[in-house]
Amino acid sequence: MPIIEFSNLNKYGNWRTRRFYNPTTSYGLKPDGFGPSIMVKLHKYTHKHVLPPCIMKLGGKTYIMPGWQEAIEGTTLNDVIHIKPKVKKKAETIIVETLSSKGDKMYKTRYYPDTGNFTCTCPGVWMSGNNCKHIKKLRLEINGK
Ligand SMILES: [Zn+2]
Repeated sequence: MPIIEFSNLNKYGNWRTRRFYNPTTSYGLKPDGFGPSIMVKLHKYTHKHVLPPCIMKLGGKTYIMPGWQEAIEGTTLNDVIHIKPKVKKKAETIIVETLSSKGDKMYKTRYYPDTGNFTCTCPGVWMSGNNCKHIKKLRLEINGK
């Protein structure tokens, strides 16, 4: 069942757009009295959400859910285009624990695949400009260089 978007140029030269739910397949619109220029096209709602759309009626109004997009009465799922946003999955941080040479501390070396950054909790990381032996070792394991 199509939704008709009907626009006409009024006497002030402004476009006015109205949307009709057309229960029949024929347009059957009479342009008389709508001003010098009219435009008719099929309208589709766009639904940008991870979840697929559904139609909900509340208080005499029709909404496309989730998202509370108000739609004209009679809208069906066929009138809604589902645009699924791309969800970027956060890559898991790689953590390697190394016992200090004295054997009294545990250093954590982390690699963040999203940013490509390495961090380490050992004291040598500052001296080496964030390139301590733990980071070097981990980088070699991940990148092979
Ligand atoms: Zn380190």
